[in-house]
Amino acid sequence: MPELPEVESVVRTLNRQLPGRTIRSVEIHRSRTVRPDSPAGVIQQLTGARFESVRRRGKYLVFHLRRPAGNERFLVVAHLGMTGRMQVARESAPRPKHSVVTLELDSGRFDFSDPRIFGRFSLDPTALKELGPEPLSRNFTPALLGDAMAGSRSAVKVCLMDQSRIAGLGNIYASEALFRAGTPPDRPAGLLKPAEIKRLHQAIRQTLREAIHASFRRGKSRASDGTTTEFYYGEGGGSAGNESRFQVYDRAGLPCPVCGTPIRRTVQAGRSTYFCPACQPSRPITVASPT
Ligand SMILES: [Zn+2]
Repeated sequence: MPELPEVESVVRTLNRQLPGRTIRSVEIHRSRTVRPDSPAGVIQQLTGARFESVRRRGKYLVFHLRRPAGNERFLVVAHLGMTGRMQVARESAPRPKHSVVTLELDSGRFDFSDPRIFGRFSLDPTALKELGPEPLSRNFTPALLGDAMAGSRSAVKVCLMDQSRIAGLGNIYASEALFRAGTPPDRPAGLLKPAEIKRLHQAIRQTLREAIHASFRRGKSRASDGTTTEFYYGEGGGSAGNESRFQVYDRAGLPCPVCGTPIRRTVQAGRSTYFCPACQPSRPITVASPT
């Protein structure tokens, strides 16, 4: 499932392609994707509108548009769901399978395809108001991370995936950041000490930055072998695809890249968590006294 880094790479690509382009016509192939609005309402609002920019908030793509009449500005808030893809293609390019939204532009065509139907493409911005702080923003300090987790009795892994506390982290990068910070995933989030919060803060940002870099490179290499401006995101299913990208995620039984201890898998809130029991000890390490 795409998380902050994958969404960021999609946003950067679309933000090079869409601004300045006008929507000539709109097809909604599945009404669920645009709810709570009706397909007819979305078609009416979008037809004739022009893209101004594409931004990211958490795992959401936020399209800024303007209607020519009255200069009315509005947003489309979109989510890739599990395996959604968005791309700008030439008019002559074949339509993707599982297409849910098609926008004919004054030049080219925007396709949103979503085989697993969890994506959205909506005029309703409510979801954005429920999001916690952006972990890569300038004002995201260790103190703000501490505030976000304060009072939480959840395990820190589960807390990091709560979009209302911190926006953008999902199952993959929560595991990766905790490994990097040396934090056991089952520690209650509200009980982390300031030094641990500081390490976790740094680990989250480094993990996300490196993943954005890697994700963007993958997108580029994918684009070079296609005839369209297609690019990517998101491994489908539960497979990590390129193993070497992750230090612990989807690596149960394989040696920890730091200490060689086999990586363990556990389940928290119904999701797999991967960690190194030696690098992320649950209890302070005590040396047994010789008897
Ligand atoms: Zn280790």
